Amino acid sequence: MKLVFATHNEHKLKEVQQLLPDHISLLSLNDIKCFEEIPETGQTLAENAKIKADFVTQTYGLDCFSDDTGLLVDTLDGQPGVYSARYAGGQKNADDNMAKLLTELQHEPNRSARFKTVVHLNLNGESHTFEGTVEGMITEKKHGENGFGYDPIFQPEGFDKTFGELSAEIKNTISHRARAIAKLVAFLKKVAP
Ligand code: IMP
Repeated sequence: MKLVFATHNEHKLKEVQQLLPDHISLLSLNDIKCFEEIPETGQTLAENAKIKADFVTQTYGLDCFSDDTGLLVDTLDGQPGVYSARYAGGQKNADDNMAKLLTELQHEPNRSARFKTVVHLNLNGESHTFEGTVEGMITEKKHGENGFGYDPIFQPEGFDKTFGELSAEIKNTISHRARAIAKLVAFLKKVAP
């Protein structure tokens, strides 16, 4: 089965590809020659995931899934949330975003946070959503260089290392995206064994 994953992000594509069974062959936005940035104008992660998947299905007539992720910090009432990519501005720079968050949380004892991913799937004219979360905390400073985004300052529950220090293999077993994608995969195995 061929499915489009509505992303230009090579990190994400690689992560998700590792989680999928062989018979599901993934096409990126580049593979279908969609080079434009799909505007993420939704107010929630679910809305943004739907906008991206619907754009591909309506424009290219292809089955597609998309994901949208946010980092939800408890003491900031769930911010940066849907604005995680552009928290420090439209340049969408991970170092700027982390610096801003660390400044916001300076002297803040409650550092609990979670990553949440919503996956939206359009398949055979029907749509389905799947969610995954990972609980954790924001560290005082950056640790490690693995992964992307906020990984160097997010320490998942049960670990004494950040996602920036943990291997991709470990991150792929516990991450928000892995959990949401695992639900997607279980669903696809049921409907397209
Ligand atoms: P997206 O919806 O997957 O594009 O994610 C939005 C933003 O959330 C990204 O630009 C990153 O800043 C952050 N983000 C998403 N997934 C991760 C992750 O696995 N680790 C760290 N940051 C992430």
